[in-house]
Amino acid sequence: MGRLRRTLVLNAGFEPLATVSLRRAVVLVMRGKAEVEQAHPGLRIRATAVEMPVPLVIRLRRYVKVPFRQRAPWSRRGVLVRDRYRCAYCGRRATTVDHVVPRSRGGGDTWLNTVAACREDNHRKADRTPAQAGMRLLVQPFEPTPADALLLAVGGGRDEPGLPEWSTTARGA
Ligand SMILES: [Zn+2]
Repeated sequence: MGRLRRTLVLNAGFEPLATVSLRRAVVLVMRGKAEVEQAHPGLRIRATAVEMPVPLVIRLRRYVKVPFRQRAPWSRRGVLVRDRYRCAYCGRRATTVDHVVPRSRGGGDTWLNTVAACREDNHRKADRTPAQAGMRLLVQPFEPTPADALLLAVGGGRDEPGLPEWSTTARGA
């Protein structure tokens, strides 16, 4: 769909919170978490059964408090959302969280030590480091950005694998 701008997310009280990718903005709107405040003139997004304006600015329906200056608290669900439910070892759908350095070897519940993993890879790796298991991380774990923290706060992002692809079309005059 070309390079569209990122979408600005406003809190329910209209304060700017973050920018997110268009894809994430659409997910928030489709889930009823946010509404479109300002749309791209003349462009529509078409997904399987949905057609909507291309959002430039969306506003959350419910007010959220996002601790921007702080780090997002670690959670298993947060790791899955951060990694978009993709296994860090094979790229398939992930439903579990793997400790890169196993807890039994001193690894903790931290953003930098955990990745989303499919059940098979998590089981295969077991109580070993990736090197010991002969497995390679396709992506490196990272601290969530403020935009990710926002999504964790509003509960977005649960869907990434099943989300329909969409295309944008110019609206006929
Ligand atoms: Zn896997």
